Amino acid sequence: MKAVAVTGKGKVEILEVKHPVPENGQVLIKIHTCLLCTWEQRIFSGESGMDLPFIPGHEASGKIVSIPEGTVTSFKEGDHVVFKTLDDCGHCSFCYQGFNNLCGGKSKKRVYGDIPSSGGLAEYISLDVGKVFPVSDQIPYSTAAFTEPLACCIHSIRRVNPDLGETVLIIGAGLMGMLHLKLSLLRGCRVIVIEPRADRRKVAIKEGAHFTIDPVKEDPGSLISDFTDGEGCEYIFFTASKSSIAEEAVKYLKKMGTIVYYGSFHPNDPVTIDPNKIHYGEYVITGSYSPSTVDFYTASKLLSRGLIDVSEFLTEEWSSSDAQKAMERALDPETFRVAINF
Ligand SMILES: [Zn+2]
Ligand SMILES: [Zn+2]
Repeated sequence: MKAVAVTGKGKVEILEVKHPVPENGQVLIKIHTCLLCTWEQRIFSGESGMDLPFIPGHEASGKIVSIPEGTVTSFKEGDHVVFKTLDDCGHCSFCYQGFNNLCGGKSKKRVYGDIPSSGGLAEYISLDVGKVFPVSDQIPYSTAAFTEPLACCIHSIRRVNPDLGETVLIIGAGLMGMLHLKLSLLRGCRVIVIEPRADRRKVAIKEGAHFTIDPVKEDPGSLISDFTDGEGCEYIFFTASKSSIAEEAVKYLKKMGTIVYYGSFHPNDPVTIDPNKIHYGEYVITGSYSPSTVDFYTASKLLSRGLIDVSEFLTEEWSSSDAQKAMERALDPETFRVAINF
């Protein structure tokens, strides 16, 4: 089968690799669409320092094309599905408690020939049925492919459970910031977005943000104070990946408020914390990493049932034969998500 491999810094190639054969307990999925996430972009740009070649891709959708006799499942051939490529062991303390996003156990790694892969940027993938989620055949594959990024943000929202009428501040209006915005609105919250790019602030308003702030030309502190009657925000979702502004974000919190550091930091410079501020204000500082099974299931439902509209965030679709161009386009900050179709 064909797979899109990053073979060098800034270089992808279409390689012919061994077709996966589903084992008992697995299904074979023909991948239709895979989105290019920041993780793929960092592998492509060389920023991640990962050994190459590597076949990336983890935000994908497709349909079941084969079920071996030894697989007992209610899935049928032809079912449209999304899937979780992140491996987990199923029997560590985190997996047992349903937090398989934090799995600390061992799991089998995917390799095509001798090329390691996360599995999304290839024509086919074989997966255990427990990693596969049904999705409506009434929505496009490109919409279904948003399940993984949406699930990541659902996990983040569930870390703190914002409630009706509360104020959420989102720092950074890339795709992750936008999905936090949409989910916070579903939770009945008032949402402020801080984002330096004017085009993204415009999209944030179009998608329902109540208020946006340009941190370069405006003073977020005084604007947030005015907007919240001097109290600050109950929740902050920090999606900007810059540790230089991670520290100052805490000051926009209301007492008893929570900040979620969503996403990894590049570069990961340490920040200082004022322990007395946390003591007197009862602030909570936490993080969010990847989705667990329940978040994935919820995301597939929200998209299948049309409860969340992601059409604004699918910037472009390319054929797998144009993978090099697609990857270059994904690096352009004007894009939210670029898709590759097989
Ligand atoms: Zn992703
Ligand atoms: Zn585990």
